[in-house]
Amino acid sequence: MSDQTPKQPNQSTMQNPLTQYPQPPFPKQPQNAPGTVHKMDPQPDHGEASYQGSGRLTGRKALITGGDSGIGRAAAIAYAREGADVAINYLPAEESDAQEVIALIEAAGRKAVALPGDLTDEAFCQQLIQDAVRELGGLDILVNNGGKQTAQDSIADITTEQFDATYKTNVYALFWISKAAMPHLKPGASIINTSSIQARQPSKNLLDYAPTKAAIVAFTQALAQQVAAQGIRVNAVAPGPFWTPLQPSGGQPQETIQTFGSETPLGRPGQPAEIAPLYVFLASQESSYSTGAVFASTGGMLMV
Ligand code: NAD
Ligand code: MG
Repeated sequence: MSDQTPKQPNQSTMQNPLTQYPQPPFPKQPQNAPGTVHKMDPQPDHGEASYQGSGRLTGRKALITGGDSGIGRAAAIAYAREGADVAINYLPAEESDAQEVIALIEAAGRKAVALPGDLTDEAFCQQLIQDAVRELGGLDILVNNGGKQTAQDSIADITTEQFDATYKTNVYALFWISKAAMPHLKPGASIINTSSIQARQPSKNLLDYAPTKAAIVAFTQALAQQVAAQGIRVNAVAPGPFWTPLQPSGGQPQETIQTFGSETPLGRPGQPAEIAPLYVFLASQESSYSTGAVFASTGGMLMV
């Protein structure tokens, strides 16, 4: 393991974003999907040692899918430190990553709920909402963030099974979970969906994944218009390249991992800690006039 990740001051401290975090080249580091944070080199920063809350989500109840690692882990840490109780969903194989997040939420003095299960299963998605609402005592914030990405060079290499699993995880689960959540959401509630730069700049080796991220944008925009009259907001976050297990566990070829983030104007991948404040903003009342919008964090790549 290289020790490239510098100790960070809190998220408000002024720094040069070019040198704030590790830059490529990175070592090859293959691991099997869904991957674990601990096999990443350098280790990602989810804000464990740096995120400082200021009561922006006091008393809120949040469910985050894909909350064990990566962007979802960073959002879970930030939400808890901002005063929210947090339930996380993840695959059963990710229990050890998830337990670290549970411990971090509890260390922030908030209630933590672990809800493992497979998002490609409609019945599980419905149960997930029932369990989250029961354990948290309601639901104010829903972050649809769990996702599947498997790079393939050719359309000939994409099996129907892969295509189906990518759409079930990224799109169907979004529909099933949002539908089940809606009866529980009150005015002021916020839904945040994780899209991607891939919605606007699809890579040739992400032929099944990129369209799911475009679908998430359209779903976000349509649902936002539908539920605005209920005082419920729906927005999307579009990350550029972020340093998470999704990428080395089949999301990209290992050659791309070595140069990951070099294509951005900032010249490096984003760290999950750098996008968590966007999820906080969209969950909080500070973003009360924003709905149906897509917020990008791409290191300067254009969401055109
Ligand atoms: P990650 O691997 O840390 O998180 C993805 C999570 O999805 C996994 O931890 C897993 O818990 C969950 N997941 C996958 N399949 C599942 C299933 N069938 N059932 C339940 N959970 C399942 O990686 P991440 O990059 O933090 O991914 C979070 C979101 O960000 C995803 O939607 C991804 O598409 C999106 N995104 C990531 C990047 C990036 O560069 N890392 C860029 C744009 C968008
Ligand atoms: Mg994970």
